[in-house]
Amino acid sequence: MLKIFNTLTRKKEVFKPLENKKVRMYACGPTVYNFPHIGNYRAYVAADLLHRTLLYLGYKVKLIMNLTDVDDKTIRDSKKEKKKLDAFTKPFIKGFFEDLKALNILPADIYPRATEHISEMVKIIKILLKKGIAYKGKDDCIYYSINKFKKYGKLAHLDKEQLLAGASGIRADEYSKENVRDFALWKAYTKDDGNVFWDTDIGKGRPGWHIECSAMSTKYLGKSFDVHTGGVDLIFPHHENEIAQSEGAFDKKFVKYWIHNEWLLVEGKKMSKSLGNFYTLRDLLEKDYDSFAVRYLLLATHYRQQLNFTLKGLEAAKNSLQRIWDFVERLESIEGKNNSKFSDIVVKYSKKFKSAVSDDLDISKALAVMFDFIHDTNRLIEKNDFGKKNAKEALNLMKEFDSVLGLLREKEKLSKELADLIKQREKARKDKNFKLADKIRKDLKKKGIILEDSCSGVRWKKI
Ligand code: AMP
Ligand code: ZN
Repeated sequence: MLKIFNTLTRKKEVFKPLENKKVRMYACGPTVYNFPHIGNYRAYVAADLLHRTLLYLGYKVKLIMNLTDVDDKTIRDSKKEKKKLDAFTKPFIKGFFEDLKALNILPADIYPRATEHISEMVKIIKILLKKGIAYKGKDDCIYYSINKFKKYGKLAHLDKEQLLAGASGIRADEYSKENVRDFALWKAYTKDDGNVFWDTDIGKGRPGWHIECSAMSTKYLGKSFDVHTGGVDLIFPHHENEIAQSEGAFDKKFVKYWIHNEWLLVEGKKMSKSLGNFYTLRDLLEKDYDSFAVRYLLLATHYRQQLNFTLKGLEAAKNSLQRIWDFVERLESIEGKNNSKFSDIVVKYSKKFKSAVSDDLDISKALAVMFDFIHDTNRLIEKNDFGKKNAKEALNLMKEFDSVLGLLREKEKLSKELADLIKQREKARKDKNFKLADKIRKDLKKKGIILEDSCSGVRWKKI
């Protein structure tokens, strides 16, 4: 039985999807105006952990992750670079998919783009206008009137007074809207938008950010669905506004479980573009860090706890990962007598792991279970109390764990030419011909292979 912390109720709840054994899930995706930093990827790794856990527990999952390819930032920066909006966002979208793959994040079923769903957004705005929940401001923009939605603030746990207090010091009459907290559903065209606009029934302009997610989630998942994820910064106003829009338009409970991840910090501050304290994944890969180590680091702290990023932490993550990889490799060359009690050990650890991840994705416990299993199995191997059949069972259990953790890389095959080069370098090292060994290492790097020497021999990886 899965229990998950729901931001809506601020409680750990028993997870029961609307439809038996089927989960409809929406993850707020990236705004594609640059390459995401690894703080952003903490959000996607957290969503991936939930996605994988649901699959592991036997649910069918339909996962949607949107791409915000039109908003203030994409327009601003595409103009700066004198590019059309789609030409500007294209390389970042491509880069995003490359990063997802490098981080072993399972793909979503659909990655809808905001620019391809304008008519769906207009449709919802028209419903809101008709119901009197939205209105046209003096500036021709269309706003959502938060006073018309009684439950406004239910996710962020803010009452109307707090909302107004937050806006104190701002005089409402300086605005084109009726209430300073009302938010834009549709932004009327201005010169600053250049050639980015849509001519629609509700005027010439472009959508606000929040309406994008209401339109894309309900289009693919229905007016009510199970899970919506994002970082804690999205609780307010983004997700609060999504609820107001969707429930305001459709009169149905929008989302059952809201799940939010905490910050990735750098020296106590949120990693963010604006503070300049960020690493992109490609920054780290260029420094020869392994993308799986980044995944491990982002995964290994519970999603609701803040995580302080350091390069030292990343190295420690790599070491933990190496222990897992070494263990799996060791299992592949076992030659001993089988231990008849080993199946019971496997069953015990499988149960423990399942109960850990089922408890609000308790990753620390789940990893501890796996490392205890590795430790116990290694002791049996050392005592020669472990055979080929046991190794197969152990490997299957590691794969079971990995369906949730995603830390094992599929074995890549080397061409004969490259494998021979590695052998020649090994020989050169044995012969103490370090000059030749170094030369071969450099040649291999040019061919896209990096070598790492370790006590258990040389390892290679593709760049
Ligand atoms: P954005 O592209 O800014 O909309 O952000 C994409 C996702 O990354 C959102 O779910 C954010 O909440 C999340 N996010 C941004 N910065 C961080 C951070 N430093 N730590 C964790 N999540 C973050
Ligand atoms: Zn969103």
